[in-house]
Amino acid sequence: MSTVQRPDHVAIVGAGVVGLSTAWFLQERGVRVTVVDRESVASDASWGNAGWLAPALTLPLPEPAVLKYGLRAMLNPSSPVYVPFTTDLRLVRFLVGFARHCTPSRWEDAMKVYAEVNRISLGAYDELADGGVREHTHLADPFLTAFKSDEDREALVDEFRHVEAAGGEVEYDRVDRDEIHSLEPSLGNGVHSGLRLRNQRFIDPPRFVHSLADAVRARGGDIRSGFDVAAVQDRGQSGVSLVSATGDAVAADAVVIASGARLNALARPFGVRALVQAGRGYSFSVQPEQMPKNPIYFPTQRVACTPLHDRFRVAGMMEFRSPDAPLDPRRVRAIIEAATPMFTGIDWESRQEEWVGSRPCTTDGLPLVGATRSPRVHVAGGHGMWGIALGPLTGRMMADSMTGGEVPGVMRHFDPLR
Ligand SMILES: Cc1cc2nc3c(=O)[nH]c(=O)nc-3n(C[C@H](O)[C@H](O)[C@H](O)COP(=O)(O)OP(=O)(O)OC[C@H]3O[C@@H](n4cnc5c(N)ncnc54)[C@H](O)[C@@H]3O)c2cc1C
Repeated sequence: MSTVQRPDHVAIVGAGVVGLSTAWFLQERGVRVTVVDRESVASDASWGNAGWLAPALTLPLPEPAVLKYGLRAMLNPSSPVYVPFTTDLRLVRFLVGFARHCTPSRWEDAMKVYAEVNRISLGAYDELADGGVREHTHLADPFLTAFKSDEDREALVDEFRHVEAAGGEVEYDRVDRDEIHSLEPSLGNGVHSGLRLRNQRFIDPPRFVHSLADAVRARGGDIRSGFDVAAVQDRGQSGVSLVSATGDAVAADAVVIASGARLNALARPFGVRALVQAGRGYSFSVQPEQMPKNPIYFPTQRVACTPLHDRFRVAGMMEFRSPDAPLDPRRVRAIIEAATPMFTGIDWESRQEEWVGSRPCTTDGLPLVGATRSPRVHVAGGHGMWGIALGPLTGRMMADSMTGGEVPGVMRHFDPLR
């Protein structure tokens, strides 16, 4: 394989949290950047997500319970994991590969990797803050998980035992009915008990990602909206070009493909065979009578809630479908049905900002971060449920690997050519 020199100018496909973090850390190392997006900043998964920087919950997606949910979902469309009957061979291939990773031993292997990244991921957020990104992270105190029964709660406690056995760190206390209701007055009668997690944080995703984009621009980065990359052309020693669907081109010394759930189309010609499938999630926002100050998670219902300044975001569902499929109102309804008994003082019918976006999911639950077969073409993506928590760390690893810096050993698990 030929070696490549440190690039002076890098073009990045995708202005989500991963592409923009990569741009910011490259600038930090003196590299000029151009970021292009088929739409604009934070136009897909990085907009409507729950914004949790929660190492305790940042766990591999392929696990035995998800498989069980998925199989049940074939019969029940309001299940939190939705797998359609499909004749799409690519999706079938993804589902078979994903199911193969839903075993306890593969989960444990992936968990060991997550334990490593979870220890260092939030440090990359602190670097962004120290480097002038204006929107900050918030400490979630308390970060509550709430349950209808003690039995449901013990299922998460049991999962935490497995996390700890694999080297992960989770600090939590059990809270009873009275305590959880006094900690969070917006909780409804359906909530019987909870866990209070320590040392977790959260962000307001749209504000944060736009603030990151502002920081990239302020340091001279060029961010172009409406540039839909149709092909990446590798011109050998003369560099690379991004060519848009309308024939525009951007030339650079190297490229990073950070196009979220659409990563495969551009990366495959460079030997990336690992599938990235849209695991679509839904969210909307409401204005509770008593606004919660911190995130709340209902693990059994798989519903994730986060306060975003003056509104409260409610998110959930995992729908393995095309990223281009329209929003399915039945999924929004399913989230409302699951969440209604758990809250009081929310008028669900006056919800706003209904949204669907695509988590970029891989079959083994690990991201793809690093060089492809071409030393000038790199990929950064495939973080599934956890691209917000892991985006800045990914950007830092990407920038270090492209500029000859030291990268953490854990990056070897993210080889895009695996
Ligand atoms: C409901 C929900 C809740 C979530 N909650 C959390 C959470 O609490 N914590 C967490 O860590 N993660 C969470 N996630 C996951 C997280 O949102 C994603 O992992 C993350 O946003 C992925 O970032 P990305 O930059 O890789 O992709 P994206 O944000 O999807 O960005 C990719 C960008 O590439 C652009 N693009 C695609 N193709 C092209 C092309 N050909 N040319 C030009 N541009 C292109 C797109 O327009 C898009 O802007 C959640 C996701 C969902 C759906």
